[in-house]
Amino acid sequence: MYHISMDIEIPQSAQTILGLLEAAGHEAYVVGGCVRDALMGRDPADWDITTSAKPEQIKAAAAEAGLKTVDTGIAHGTVTVIIDHEPFEVTTYRADGEYSDGRHPDSIEFLDRIDGDLARRDFTVNAMAYNPARGLVDHFGGQADLQAGVLRAVGDPYERFTEDALRIVRGLRFAAQLGFSIEERTSQAMHELRNLLDDIAVERIWIEFAGLLCGKDAVPVLREYSDVVFAIIPELAVEYEFDQHNPFHVYDVWEHTLHAFEAAPPDMDATVRLALLLHDIGKPHCLVIDEDGRGWAIGHDKEGEPIARKVCRDLKLSREQTETVTHLVANHMFQIPDTERAMRRFLVRHGAGHAQQLFAIRRCDKIGLGREQPPDNPMSIAFAKAEKLMDEQLNAEPVFGVKDLAINGRDLMDAGMAQGPAIGRALDGLLEAVVDGEVPNEHEALLMRAQQLTQ
Ligand code: ATP
Ligand code: MG
Repeated sequence: MYHISMDIEIPQSAQTILGLLEAAGHEAYVVGGCVRDALMGRDPADWDITTSAKPEQIKAAAAEAGLKTVDTGIAHGTVTVIIDHEPFEVTTYRADGEYSDGRHPDSIEFLDRIDGDLARRDFTVNAMAYNPARGLVDHFGGQADLQAGVLRAVGDPYERFTEDALRIVRGLRFAAQLGFSIEERTSQAMHELRNLLDDIAVERIWIEFAGLLCGKDAVPVLREYSDVVFAIIPELAVEYEFDQHNPFHVYDVWEHTLHAFEAAPPDMDATVRLALLLHDIGKPHCLVIDEDGRGWAIGHDKEGEPIARKVCRDLKLSREQTETVTHLVANHMFQIPDTERAMRRFLVRHGAGHAQQLFAIRRCDKIGLGREQPPDNPMSIAFAKAEKLMDEQLNAEPVFGVKDLAINGRDLMDAGMAQGPAIGRALDGLLEAVVDGEVPNEHEALLMRAQQLTQ
């Protein structure tokens, strides 16, 4: 084993843990993603530690230093050490046994030397370890690959992806996040073995896929690895090279989707990005070609809703995520509100959150058409106007739901209305009146209106 001398700045708390393990006679290194990020000058999300100490020894050394530990995954050798309220995962050097189900190692084996621990890791840039006294351990050329911006499986990619196919999606996630290219054979194995993903727990896939979708270089990865994307979301495959027969569209449905995706703002979250990826999923199912040879996909937003719902179910997304994705897909062809009143109604109908997400998606969708769009064309003007209307409404005293009214059910009862469904109906009526600008959102005015309504 050789060490490369070089300095990485490690936070004091992580150094303390390395120090207490070494003082107890063990080896300890920071390892994996944090070493990669530190060498790239990025701020690591967390500092993982790998050590020759067995779990009981990690706990004993931590206890000696007065630190709390949590048995995170004792069977896999992981103990979380808490220092200044901050958790650090400390894992015993280990090798993974056979992966007969392609999902979990059948067994793991604790090791005394770091070599085997680094060999079980997925990509060379993730397989480096560092200790301030001994320097960098880099057995697989991780540093060179990091410098060249290359993602390369540790060892034979076919073996490694067969052991755990999740690594295919992790690799794409890293490529999208770091802007790296994928080494030839690693890339080939990703394409060829993509169907092994069928046997991977979908929760694990979604975590990595969501990371891919949020990566700054997601689009070239989604394009080059469309086949892998379709292995994860088979419903998207019909979009590939699906001709829209429409002069308004330069691209086929999948290419349009990728161009729309390219316009996603950096702060768009993974759930909305999934909706953007799925927004036209209904199109190939309802496209009709008229006598002039022109394609129409009227109602493709509604057509896409149940398909998007199925995708969310298969990805085991939460109820809330599913609601967001389906709502956005089903409503992305919304009519652009052109007056204050229409905008207020739009906000009430969709809720402020979804309303803004719908606008974000529509903006991307427009850009994804791929046609030159002079800023003074009618659609762009209408859209810009609507965005301004939305800003104004969101910045004004917002009234998008009954809870935003300057009056509540208790007030109505205090004013003599009987408890019961009539209260709810009265509040709904007041909301409508406020949204339509008939009554100001003021307590007295609302009370008067309520009394009129119930007379
Ligand atoms: P991030 O900074 O996004 O967390 P990371 O590289 O730290 O990236 P983690 O999922 O936190 O990724 O995993 C930590 C380390 O564990 C990786 O760097 C890699 O060495 C190893 N690893 C994680 N998952 C796998 C896997 N499925 N197969 C092999 N090694 C893995
Ligand atoms: Mg990590």
